[in-house]
Amino acid sequence: MIRSTALDPVPPQIGHDIGPAAYAGSQLAGGVAPPERAYAGLSVPVGQPPPAGEMAPQDHEIADAIAQGSGWMIELLARLVDKDTTLGREEAGQAVIRDALSELGLEPVDVPMDAAALRAHPAASPFDWEVADKRNVVATWSPASGFGGLSLILNGHIDVVSPEPCSRWVRDPFTAHVEGEWLYGRGAADMKCGLAAILGAVKGLRVLGLSPRAPVHIQSVVEEECTGNGAVQTVLAGYAADAAIIAEPFGAAITTSQVGVLWFDVVVQGPPGHAAESGTMVSAIESSLALIQALRTVEAELNASPPPPYDRYEHPISLNVGQIHAGDWNSTVPGECVTGYRIAMYPGTPVADIRERVERAVADAVAAQPGAFATPPEVRYRGFAAEGYQIPADHLLVQSLSSTYARHFGAPPALVATTGTTDARVLGVAGGTPTVCFGPYAEGAHGVGERVYLPSVIQTAQVMGLFIKDWCGVT
Ligand SMILES: [Zn+2]
Repeated sequence: MIRSTALDPVPPQIGHDIGPAAYAGSQLAGGVAPPERAYAGLSVPVGQPPPAGEMAPQDHEIADAIAQGSGWMIELLARLVDKDTTLGREEAGQAVIRDALSELGLEPVDVPMDAAALRAHPAASPFDWEVADKRNVVATWSPASGFGGLSLILNGHIDVVSPEPCSRWVRDPFTAHVEGEWLYGRGAADMKCGLAAILGAVKGLRVLGLSPRAPVHIQSVVEEECTGNGAVQTVLAGYAADAAIIAEPFGAAITTSQVGVLWFDVVVQGPPGHAAESGTMVSAIESSLALIQALRTVEAELNASPPPPYDRYEHPISLNVGQIHAGDWNSTVPGECVTGYRIAMYPGTPVADIRERVERAVADAVAAQPGAFATPPEVRYRGFAAEGYQIPADHLLVQSLSSTYARHFGAPPALVATTGTTDARVLGVAGGTPTVCFGPYAEGAHGVGERVYLPSVIQTAQVMGLFIKDWCGVT
């Protein structure tokens, strides 16, 4: 009798070993070196019972079929990296995804962004840019015959952050470059490698003539890097499942906990004037610098006593000063300075709490420095207003994916908590779909020389393919 791995308990240490994520770091979670082999599958014959009269495919057949498609996967990844899909330009990458889905015999469906519907949705983040021409792409792989398993969303985001300063890249960031076992370029890590792995997993199963016993929704969404509103739009379109995996590049780990993120701008106004008078004037730039220091106290307070699992981190909550725009002439006292911030929050903390802390810190700084501000600064919100998210270590999804992973690699994955945010909160909270992140091993996300370890892309696809067999069932 073939056992169902979906209900197998994971080794006991898995549920108690939630550590920091190595996202964009120099090593795998848990200090494991990058895996040496692209295919390390174990041919243990376990999986969902096949329907009467049919044989379930063996693990090694699935892993082999997916590995056979590694050239296709890497070529797809390169085509995606070759497209500049920074905010507002995502469509070039979505066209590549549509083509790849069609090549697999699936029907890509556009889920266009609807500004009015998003602004009315409590899980959406505020935005002040045009979204009318943006589209998420979803393809549903439906059972060919007979339902019976659990449904699944496989999700990735097509948008990438700016590669600036481009002059620091050795090569064009939007031209994929392979060196040894690594592929370089903006988005190679975050997270076009994950999209390639998702499609590679589906391709391998389809080459074997298999189909899932419950719907598998393959999603490529926009705006993960600034709002999460692409994923919100898929929820608005009705996409939900028994589980979701987002193929973010956390490498050899399952991410079960993530912080929330709030973006805000602080606008400081002052009277512009001649530099010759600057000794008696208030500079919007210099006033803004004082506010950065004031906001660091909020960050310090949040880091003072982190709740588990973030107590494993030295500094789990980061305040990032991401941009400053002010002034346009060396001999003019600047009349306005806009500083753009990002701050994190623990799962369970309402966004409103962090907004209140930020606004109070700004107000306190102004009150403490009479004369330093010409007018009261204004705090404005656009971009992420995202709460944290976590899924229990003993959740069926975590246990089942851990079990699939352990069967393939011979050892269980680490469960990790990340100090960044992903669309998991959108699918998990707004969509009601239990969600984890699991993806390739990569380095330098958002940095210069971003890269992904190619064997890990293939391995991610193999684990996903096996997980489709375990979770959805295949015939
Ligand atoms: Zn990402």
